Amino acid sequence: MTEIYDLHSHSIASDGALSPTELVKRAHEKGVTVLALTDHDTTNGLAEAQQAAADLGMRLINGIELSASHLNQCLHIVGLNIDPHNPSLSEGIARQQSIRDLRAKQIAEKLEKKKIFGAYQFVTQAAGNGEITRSHFADFLLTHQHVTTQQEAFDRYLSKGKPAFVPTVWASLEETVAWIKAAGGVAVVAHPMRYKLSAKWMNRALAVFKQAGGQGIEVVTGRASLDEIRMSQQFAEKHQLYASAGSDFHAPDNIYLELGRLAAMPVGLKPVWELF
Ligand code: AMP
Ligand code: MN
Ligand code: MN
Ligand code: MN
Repeated sequence: MTEIYDLHSHSIASDGALSPTELVKRAHEKGVTVLALTDHDTTNGLAEAQQAAADLGMRLINGIELSASHLNQCLHIVGLNIDPHNPSLSEGIARQQSIRDLRAKQIAEKLEKKKIFGAYQFVTQAAGNGEITRSHFADFLLTHQHVTTQQEAFDRYLSKGKPAFVPTVWASLEETVAWIKAAGGVAVVAHPMRYKLSAKWMNRALAVFKQAGGQGIEVVTGRASLDEIRMSQQFAEKHQLYASAGSDFHAPDNIYLELGRLAAMPVGLKPVWELF
């Protein structure tokens, strides 16, 4: 049987719109046979997702997407096939979550300086037991008609250099890789083209990542153009990294990021799933 892999997705445990069960069901409907749930800095959706996958006879890879700081830049590191109960990983996650909580308060304070009130209450309620992300702030700004699209919320308030952006020091690249490896997982650089960094910068960062024990890089991602896929392929080849494929699905209303609708993996690359 030919497997259909989608190794990057989100649920309500972070900034996704679907419960883990709904996400797994949707992936199954879209033909995905191996799904990874990779919520931002949390593994809380995994148990429910595993149960839903078992009920449907599909494979769920335990995953996470960790925010990492490297030379003042935030990079996202996906951990695949992790043991969610590993103590080192759990400690790391707890640290990331306290950074997220503090940052959420700081973002809300910055919005108050712009005479926009009530953000903190909104995002804590919207996130529930899940992690608070900037997407929740974008939803707040949209709901209260300060902006007309999510994108505008990022462009006007939440992105780097905008009034409600809070510079955040996450765990280092090396630490995130170490936690993932301690948990028996494979560390993968997420969506390498989305950071808008130069090839020179990325090559240096990838050398550090590889040296720390990182093994993979996303080559096929939801929004990547063929050019971007080609450039990611070159990074994979240059640094001898395994190639991953994931949609980064968040919500059904975004037609560009549907589960399982990915371009083919370029030939010649070593797919990351060889390691599972
Ligand atoms: P955080 O990890 O809290 O900084 O939130 C990052 C999340 O916000 C990403 O995973 C995306 O889901 C979302 N995001 C970031 N930048 C944008 C953007 N320009 N437009 C829409 N969503 C974005
Ligand atoms: Mn997200
Ligand atoms: Mn990401
Ligand atoms: Mn993601």
